[in-house]
Amino acid sequence: MPYVDDCVFCKILQKQIPSVSVYEDELILAFLDIAPFNFGHALIVPKDHHHSCTTLGDDYLARMMQAAPRIAAAIMRATEAEGFNLFLNNGSVAGQVVPHVHLHILPRFANDGVLMTASTRKYDSTQAMTDLAEKIKQRITHV
Ligand code: 5GP
Ligand code: ZN
Repeated sequence: MPYVDDCVFCKILQKQIPSVSVYEDELILAFLDIAPFNFGHALIVPKDHHHSCTTLGDDYLARMMQAAPRIAAAIMRATEAEGFNLFLNNGSVAGQVVPHVHLHILPRFANDGVLMTASTRKYDSTQAMTDLAEKIKQRITHV
C-alpha cells in the first residue's frame, strides 16, 4: 500500500513533517522516538503504509529485522546502553497508537525504571498447551 494522507509516519517518510533520522535506505527509515522511554529510543518504519505487520511484504519485514540489531548496536555504542528491547505493538489492544507498522528499538540501562513486565499465566495441562499449539500450526498459512 502506498503512503496515506492521515498517517503521521507517512508524513515523516515524505518529509512533510520533520524527524531526526539515524538510518535510511530504499525500504526503511529509522528515526528517534519523539517521546522516548530512554534516550536513543528509535523506530524503524517501512516505506509502505500497513497498519499490521501481518500484511507487510517480506522484503520490508526482512530489511527491518536485518537493520534492527545493527542500528541497536550503534545506539548502544552511542548511549553506552548495556542492552536493548526490540518490540512491535500490533493492534490497539497491544498498545499500537500509530497505525503504520513500526519496530521499536529501546536501549536499556541498569535500573532505568522502564517497566516491561507482566504476570504470567499457567496452562491448565500439558494437553491444553499441546492442543493450542496444534491449533496454531494448522492456521499458519505460509512462512
Ligand atoms: P506505538 O504505541 O504505536 O507502538 O508507538 C508509537 C510511537 O511513535 C510512540 O512511542 C510515539 O512517541 C512515537 N511518535 C508518535 N508520533 C511521533 C512523531 O511525530 N515523531 C516521532 N519521532 N515519534 C512519534
Ligand atoms: Zn503510514
